[in-house]
Amino acid sequence: MDRFTRVPVREQDPNKRNKNFEEVCYGYNHEEAVQEAKRCLNCKSPQCVKGCPVSVNIPAFVHEIAEDNPKGAAMELSKHTALPAVCGRVCPQESQCEKYCVLANKGDAVSIGKLERYAADYARENNIQTIQPEPSNGHKVAVVGAGPAGITVAGELLKKGYDVTVFESLQQPGGVLVYGIPQFRLPDTVVASEVDKLKDLGVKFETNTIVGRTMSLEAIRDEGYEAIFLGTGAGLPRFMDIPGENFNGVFSANEFLTRTNLMHAYEAGYDTPIIGGRKTAVIGGGNVAMDAARVAKRLGADVTIVYRRTEAELPARAEEVHHAKEEGIKFHFLTSPVEINADDDGWVTSMTLRPMELGEPDESGRRRPVPKVGEDFDVDVDTVIMALGTNPNPLITGTNPDIETNKKQGIIITEDGQSSVEDVFAGGDAVTGAATVILAMGAGKHAAEGIDKYIKSKN
Ligand SMILES: Cc1cc2nc3c(=O)[nH]c(=O)nc-3n(C[C@H](O)[C@H](O)[C@H](O)COP(=O)(O)OP(=O)(O)OC[C@H]3O[C@@H](n4cnc5c(N)ncnc54)[C@H](O)[C@@H]3O)c2cc1C
Repeated sequence: MDRFTRVPVREQDPNKRNKNFEEVCYGYNHEEAVQEAKRCLNCKSPQCVKGCPVSVNIPAFVHEIAEDNPKGAAMELSKHTALPAVCGRVCPQESQCEKYCVLANKGDAVSIGKLERYAADYARENNIQTIQPEPSNGHKVAVVGAGPAGITVAGELLKKGYDVTVFESLQQPGGVLVYGIPQFRLPDTVVASEVDKLKDLGVKFETNTIVGRTMSLEAIRDEGYEAIFLGTGAGLPRFMDIPGENFNGVFSANEFLTRTNLMHAYEAGYDTPIIGGRKTAVIGGGNVAMDAARVAKRLGADVTIVYRRTEAELPARAEEVHHAKEEGIKFHFLTSPVEINADDDGWVTSMTLRPMELGEPDESGRRRPVPKVGEDFDVDVDTVIMALGTNPNPLITGTNPDIETNKKQGIIITEDGQSSVEDVFAGGDAVTGAATVILAMGAGKHAAEGIDKYIKSKN
């Protein structure tokens, strides 16, 4: 293999994996990882690092793998990222680190994501402890939400000697990593192991606690917490506001994925069954749409993704689009639903689609879809899954109006992650709206610094 061609990664056969929930990608074994790492040119001014939102020293950890030292690679990664096994699996590397790899000018970028996954999996499988906390400093911090933002804050504050408790509304920590992203992309065991590592080092997780409903911010303060981090994500689904969205068989992607991923609706014997649709349409083109489509396919449906722009504008990771196509998902580009139709009992029977064409670029820089009126057509479907994005849930901010939010319900913060209430910090999707794991982690890292500075300034 020459320097410009990446070592291929082994994957489950598409026609087998589209019927099971086991992980699609097997990752690199030791020999493959060393061979791939040796392709890195160890550039003097590494552009890949500039493409990483948490500035991982990529050449340093890749060099350790090339030198046959996966433990050294894991220790190097742990200086910058709390969840390398997760990021190695779900980060959009093609638009971040790998996009800037100089090898990409002449061939394939170094497979940075797969190498990160290899080093992190090695550390997990060999019980290597990558976090070294300082002794307790006697100060208590509460984290609300156990997604990547909250987990990162907890890990960073633990390292600094804080006593951290994470309050989580669901029964299992992990946020979208467990309730949204399916097992075949990110096995729960990977997330659970990161959470267990924090638990072993003293972080407490209080699950089934909905802050703002079963517990107030005041009650948290009364328990002696000196700062509160809100990492509550963006779990409020958006709909299209078209006729028929209330019919039976229409789901938000959030509900559909939570019922399958977290409540195992696909396994016999579980009590939250989800009916595997005969013909399913998924509306949207992001990672959430790809995940919902691939889950529906595994439940036995014939699945079509309906997206109002062209393939070039699909916001999902390139790997997810590629995998979805391999698994037999169909795509209806340049179309948008205008109505969902049902039988007399209210069960979905079809959907009316309107063709679109691309006009001038909108505020996002992408060309705006313009409807072609008078050319509507119907397609038969019995299940429609809306994957159109989500907004932050206003539960906490609604019951604490002093915490200022923007028009889209995102919490407004300073550079240090501090909200308009001085002991309340925030980060991740709760601030930005639906974004990415690595951005939520970056925000968590930043807020942990802010919290540390704030508590020190008070004592
Ligand atoms: C299906 C799906 C696929 C995705 N795929 C990718 C991908 O491939 N790559 C990528 O980078 N990003 C992906 N994303 C986006 C990414 O997962 C999110 O940007 C990221 O998880 C945000 O992290 P967070 O910690 O801010 O919030 P979340 O992960 O949403 O975690 C928030 C947590 O807070 C809890 N919570 C909310 N309100 C309360 C409350 N009042 N009290 C207590 N707890 C509360 C929630 O239960 C949740 O556990 C995907 C998202 C979805 C939905």
